[in-house]
Amino acid sequence: MAWYCSGSTNSELIENLSRTGLIKDERVKKAMLGVDRAHYAPSRPYSDSPQPIGHGATISAPHMHGHACEYLIDFLLPGSRVLDIGSGSGYLTHVLANLVMGASSANGTTGQVIGVDHIPELVDLACDNMRKSKQGRSFLESGSVKFVTADGRLGWKEGAPYDAIHVGAAAEKLHPTLVEQLRAPGRMFIPVDAEYDGRAEGSLELGGGQYIWVVDKREDGSIHKEKVFQVSYVPLTDRPGT
Ligand code: SAH
Repeated sequence: MAWYCSGSTNSELIENLSRTGLIKDERVKKAMLGVDRAHYAPSRPYSDSPQPIGHGATISAPHMHGHACEYLIDFLLPGSRVLDIGSGSGYLTHVLANLVMGASSANGTTGQVIGVDHIPELVDLACDNMRKSKQGRSFLESGSVKFVTADGRLGWKEGAPYDAIHVGAAAEKLHPTLVEQLRAPGRMFIPVDAEYDGRAEGSLELGGGQYIWVVDKREDGSIHKEKVFQVSYVPLTDRPGT
């Protein structure tokens, strides 16, 4: 599939992902068309595959970025507040900002996306990448997008509650602090080690694997979790050297 969905330009890549059904939502497609992956992926930016960005991190494949946005889309509205944990290259943070900054919101609040990474060099890289476009510079200057260095397993309390939380690295468990920082209603997209729910233990599943969980906090505060598909992400860890 990867070869088929790649492109020689950003728009060719996104159009191919759309044509093959890997991106279905028109708002997500438009938001991804608005961010040139070449600003974020140093090699093969228009290939539908993950690419190394240094410090043991990778920029995820574009179809994964598309899936993440589509699972969260009902919570990515003009004015929404979003936390992007493991922001790495900053690509998805920019796409998320396109989704929440589109127009002024119904209740007059301004959207904001906060990217969190625990490697300061990657936080600097994300800022540098975003400054490559006029729109990215204006998001940073207005504070609509902010990158912070922190342990994402603790979320970013200062900006909570969030309408949507995206986690871009595999967690050992559904960290309760992250669920606490969700607004009611709100939704989190998080890859979690398969061992978390006990089912993979002692089973034949190779390496246990990781699964995306979609966690909904409903208006009444109740929590609903759904395990949706298997993935392969770098782990959410302690900062190297700590
Ligand atoms: N969404 C990013 C994914 C980057 S890879 C992109 O597509 O570019 C995962 C990222 O998670 C890495 O940048 C890594 O530094 C970060 N990470 C790992 N453990 C973390 C932790 N405990 N807190 C914050 N970030 C973490």
